[in-house]
Amino acid sequence: LQAYFSLIQRESGFISGLVCVLHDVTEQQKIDADRKQFVSNVSHELRTPLTSVHSYVEALSEGAWQDPEVAPQFLKVAQDETDRMIRMINDLLTLSRMDSGTQKLDIELTNINELFNYVLDRYDMMLKQDDSPEHQNTRLDDPNKEGVGKKYTIKREFTQRDLWVDLDTDRFTQVLDNLMNNAIKYSPDGSVITCRLIETHNNVILSVSDQGLGIPRADVPHIFDRFYRVDKARSRAQGGTGLGLAISREVIQMLGGKIWVDSREGRGSTFYISLPYQPYEEDLWDETD
Ligand code: ADP
Repeated sequence: LQAYFSLIQRESGFISGLVCVLHDVTEQQKIDADRKQFVSNVSHELRTPLTSVHSYVEALSEGAWQDPEVAPQFLKVAQDETDRMIRMINDLLTLSRMDSGTQKLDIELTNINELFNYVLDRYDMMLKQDDSPEHQNTRLDDPNKEGVGKKYTIKREFTQRDLWVDLDTDRFTQVLDNLMNNAIKYSPDGSVITCRLIETHNNVILSVSDQGLGIPRADVPHIFDRFYRVDKARSRAQGGTGLGLAISREVIQMLGGKIWVDSREGRGSTFYISLPYQPYEEDLWDETD
């Protein structure tokens, strides 16, 4: 708390009063500290891939380019790391637009069962493509492409009722993609991912459960923070930016909903999203027909 005092003095020199202004600086100090921490994180996050690209390019220019075994590998690392930096910058720009309020949502009433099915169909399709003969040689040796080469089974447990919710479909699809990619990335080969969709009185609840690594209890409160990862090396090795869940939380909050996780280390995680929902009343529609 900062206090400012000033005396009210008449021309005669007589002091007729005292003004005291109390200013709460703790909130501002916290914002300043967060901002400094964020700039430091961004610098560090970008320095790591840049240093690695620098050393590979240096090795190539010092002669490795002539080695037909090594050169393609080094170029691939350089390419993957620059791709990851581009993803990170794009994620940071999205977050910055959300922070400044310039990221506008394009809301429309959407059938969420259809949208969720559409997203999951894409993952089933990717699995089929990975299995086709021309993709066989890219399987499992390409950890930088999220999810490529991993086997998984998607189970869908959806309510039969069509649920209509106000959504920005592009942004919401990005959130579902984050949850699905994480479920695949942080699970062993061949596991089951269960996707559920239910309605409660005023909410639609959607969840993605995996049988993966799980999240240690102490890390759970932080995983939606920018750049927070349980295992930095593992996340980076899989091409992660550490920003996916932070963006997801911003999007869901902008839609008036909530996102949270329930996880047990070594057993798996379930990510939940709840969105406000007005059950559609048939009578009302009948009357206006
Ligand atoms: P990243 O790019 O590192 O995946 P995210 O913001 O998507 O960034 O996730 C943050 C961290 O949360 C991850 O690094 C990981 O440690 C943890 N995490 C996210 N999803 C899962 C999951 N399904 N299972 C286990 N850990 C997860």
